[in-house]
Formats: sequence, C-alpha cells, structure tokens
Amino acid sequence: MDKHSLFVQVANLEERIGELYMELGALRQKILELIEENQRLSQENARLREAGPSAGEGYENLVRIYREGFHICNVKYGSLRTEGECLFCMSFLKK
Ligand SMILES: [Zn+2]
Repeated sequence: MDKHSLFVQVANLEERIGELYMELGALRQKILELIEENQRLSQENARLREAGPSAGEGYENLVRIYREGFHICNVKYGSLRTEGECLFCMSFLKK
C-alpha cells in the first residue's frame, strides 16, 4: 500500500472534518438566534393578547408595540415589521 497517498487521504479528511466542524458551529449559532427570536415573539404575542381586551391602556400598549417594530394588525399580528410602516396597522390604530 502506498503510504504517501494514505497520508494525503488522511490529511484531506482532516481538513474536511475541520470545515464541517466550523459549519456545524455556525448552524448551532443560527439555531440559537432563531430560538431567541421565537421566544421574543412569543412574549410579544402574549403581551398583544393581554393588551387586546382592555381598551384605553390597551391602545397605548399597541401604539408602543407598533413603535417597537411589531405588527399589531390582524394581517401580520405579532410579527416584526420589516417593510416600514404598515397600512393595516395604521388604520387599526385610527379606529
Ligand atoms: Zn401590520
């Protein structure tokens, strides 16, 4: 058996494992971020549900949540506003 080619194969494998390991680390980080975001949205959702029933205070809560960057309209309820102002939210606030 050619010892040199065996050595080269092992070295290549080692390199690929190193790359995979780094990829795995990046994925783990991404998952952590998604879990955190999901948690944050769940909390916002709970707050939105609480804010819904009580009128006066609820309205101020909704305005604040909207300004913090979340949808309060029933179209995208509780999700992050990524496209600037939302006409549905705005018309909801005017009611
Ligand atoms: Zn909206």
